[in-house]
Amino acid sequence: EVYADYAATTPMDGAVRKALLEDDGFGNPSSIHRAGKDARAKIEKARRGIAQLLNASSSEVFFTSGATEGNNMAIRGVANQYVRPHIITTEIEHASVLNTLRSLDADVTYLQANADGAIDVDELKNSLRDETVLVSIMLVNNETGVMQPIYEIQEALSEHTALLHIDAVQAYGHMRVDVKELGADLLTLSAHKMYGPKGIGLLYKHKDVKLIPLITGGGQEKELRGGTENTMWIEGLSLAMHQASDAITRRSIREMQIKEQFLNLLTQSDIPFEVNGDVNKSASHIINIHFPFAEAEFMLTALDMAGIHASAGSACQAGTLNPSHVLTSMYGESDRNRQSIRFSFSYMMTDEEVEAIVTALEDIYGRLMR
Ligand code: PLP
Repeated sequence: EVYADYAATTPMDGAVRKALLEDDGFGNPSSIHRAGKDARAKIEKARRGIAQLLNASSSEVFFTSGATEGNNMAIRGVANQYVRPHIITTEIEHASVLNTLRSLDADVTYLQANADGAIDVDELKNSLRDETVLVSIMLVNNETGVMQPIYEIQEALSEHTALLHIDAVQAYGHMRVDVKELGADLLTLSAHKMYGPKGIGLLYKHKDVKLIPLITGGGQEKELRGGTENTMWIEGLSLAMHQASDAITRRSIREMQIKEQFLNLLTQSDIPFEVNGDVNKSASHIINIHFPFAEAEFMLTALDMAGIHASAGSACQAGTLNPSHVLTSMYGESDRNRQSIRFSFSYMMTDEEVEAIVTALEDIYGRLMR
């Protein structure tokens, strides 16, 4: 079995799991007795450490149930302050951004991606209006791994009052995520993409940014997110972030080696393929490959039977794959959008595992072409 779907989710790191098993963070952090105070202290320690990692202050870090919630909090929290606000995003965002925007009574401009997988910043500049309140753009695309030109985007927005929301879910642990460097007003992360637990994440919110809360309740998270805090998972998120940060160079270099080995082996094989997007602009752990004539659904099923776990971009609905919205933005309507597979790697993978993926692909392609 080879798991090559680390952009979908990662297994929990051994040290994170061990720490969580040792301490269940029992008290209610809002209680004033000792058990409550202990839990509160743990949460605030985690918040301080995380804030340092992000170059933020601890009052700017809010814990969420993951990036879907974080993205909803950021987008709805801004948009709900206005009547039919103008918002700019891209066609290649995650569903938690796209479907949130679609559900709002907002005037939304969707920027297209170029064939390299990145947006054109001039188009962003041309789309900006005086009344634009929010620009929501991901740092690393989850299907292609391509990084958006965030510094140019930041520059384009420097004279404008629109807030910048960055979905950095696929970036953390693979590259520096410093909220000041990125010029983020809002930024979202999720623990389960970085060897932490599922169901926990965070929203960074610059201290001057006002949001309308999504979940009202007992006033937790400075009244921005009601509900008893998940002490245990918050500690898990914090540990995973510290580990990812400490090992960032080692991990990302290993991921790049794996990607290079994978591409070299594919090139040496008889399999025809094209990389989707510009591999030189992509994060270390994701590669998306077009296999001409091979439907992704067929390929994924055959790979699965060979014990290889990969994925196509779009969610599987009733067993059929929709063409990827990301690839459709990049290449227009094309067979390519249904014939592409995402492989996403971990620093933990071995050379043998990478070889096994290519061997399986050769076998499947051989049968397909016969
Ligand atoms: N944003 C991106 C880019 C993602 O890849 C994901 C993962 O599925 C999400 C948001 C959603 O994160 P979560 O699973 O924490 O809700």
